[in-house]
Amino acid sequence: MSAAEGLRPALFVDRDGTLMVEVDHCRDPKDVKAYPGAAEELARARSLGWAVIIITNQSGIGRGYFSVEQFESVQAELIRQLDGNIDASYMAPDHPDNPSLRRKPAPGMILEATAEHGIDLRRSFMIGDKDLDIECGRNAGVRTILVETGYGKKNLNCGADFITPTIAEAIQLVLTEPL
Ligand SMILES: [Mg+2]
Repeated sequence: MSAAEGLRPALFVDRDGTLMVEVDHCRDPKDVKAYPGAAEELARARSLGWAVIIITNQSGIGRGYFSVEQFESVQAELIRQLDGNIDASYMAPDHPDNPSLRRKPAPGMILEATAEHGIDLRRSFMIGDKDLDIECGRNAGVRTILVETGYGKKNLNCGADFITPTIAEAIQLVLTEPL
């Protein structure tokens, strides 16, 4: 019996600049705008057995810019716009000057999600728009995709395994890759 039996692959996905248009420290659901095609491609991945898990740093909480409740209202609006195609969300509120092992680029949130959702890391991907997303994925031992939305164009040299214009194309690529 393979050690990975019964485990599922996951798309670990950054939130701001990856799933939704980057807004500096988004704290208002009115400012949430999911990227076109994201909901459809996430639905397709889930129908093929992939778990979709948001992995997001929210230093605005640690910096005192907004509350956990405001984060949750933004998150709820994003998930609504994505037609509910999110299996779980992990958030690190840490101030960058005092990061825990959960704050990206540390792999804590991915490892936590992996244990809680029965994920096979060898078949999984981390998708994001910043070097710290790619480093986080690498630290967790998953393949990485940089998207060119958000801060992506400023991070083209971060050593991602793949680069795609948007989240929709990143998922299309994942679904054609051999597992
Ligand atoms: Mg981002």
